[in-house]
Amino acid sequence: MSEDVETLKRRLPLLDYLRQHNWASRPAGRSEFVGLCPLHEETRPSFYVNTRKDVFYCHGCGQGGDLIRFVQLSRRLSFRQSLACLDPETTPEADPVAVIEQAAAFYRQQLDQHPEAMFYLNQRGLHNRALIRELEIGYAPGGSLRRHLTAQGYSFDLLRRSGLLNVNGSDAFYQRIVFPLRQGEHIVNLYGRSIGAAFAHRFMPGTKGGLYAWEKVRHCSEVILVEGLFDYAVLRQVGFHNVTCSLGTHLNTDQFRQLCESSRTVYLAFDVDANRSGQRAAEQLAHRLGAQGIAVRRVLLPHGHDPNSFFVQGGDARKFQSFVEAALP
Ligand SMILES: [Zn+2]
Repeated sequence: MSEDVETLKRRLPLLDYLRQHNWASRPAGRSEFVGLCPLHEETRPSFYVNTRKDVFYCHGCGQGGDLIRFVQLSRRLSFRQSLACLDPETTPEADPVAVIEQAAAFYRQQLDQHPEAMFYLNQRGLHNRALIRELEIGYAPGGSLRRHLTAQGYSFDLLRRSGLLNVNGSDAFYQRIVFPLRQGEHIVNLYGRSIGAAFAHRFMPGTKGGLYAWEKVRHCSEVILVEGLFDYAVLRQVGFHNVTCSLGTHLNTDQFRQLCESSRTVYLAFDVDANRSGQRAAEQLAHRLGAQGIAVRRVLLPHGHDPNSFFVQGGDARKFQSFVEAALP
């Protein structure tokens, strides 16, 4: 294994890899280059590559290491996965997991380049940059993903099968905010929210996975369950950490099982909408969870609100907490 790593690094120096991935740099002394850090957001370059030692170091985020380390960090892969994706023997064709990671990474980069996307996030009450990064939120402008991924060697056929492209070959996500949905280390799906007039919600084909960011809350004795990712995001932003999201009012089998894993109290904070569909779904879910011995409370927000709109229209954490405390059994 260690010999393979050395061979691989000789074949593909770190600087070459970075340049292939559009890293812009300028010389900074003998055998050093400096540019903006691809691993964290910054406006002044603090990412250094030493071509003699073939390593990088970022003075901003403190990350450093060799090519493999960089791939691990930038693509969120394990050591072995990073080796595999740098290995010319493994064509991208063989790796449908990698293609969705690549798409998500591309969408993340687009977020900063499209003011309309940040504008939309702000409109939805989301402005904490650290949280936006943590949730890996991206933006699909539409019309540029296909070119980006085919340039990396992914075949048109794979892109179509993955659902990233339509049957007619254009980008499936067009002017959409994108949230990657992870299960463990892997992205299992992408959720796209239209910022325009298109149908509001879209997923890639396949499962939506388990509850959103379940690992973070699975040990909590009290969990707040919301139906939308923007509900989730604003609650996280104001400091609620015991939140998860089912991406719709209908829980799939995995999501239901997760809530029932251990005894806990689940607070359902679904939409309080005019046609009562959110609250009807909450009542049914409360009943099913109750039958499994899970304590359930229904959080009643003011009429016409979901958690997202509540915060967008000036609600605060203290007030929301009072709704949680007043929740109905
Ligand atoms: Zn950095």
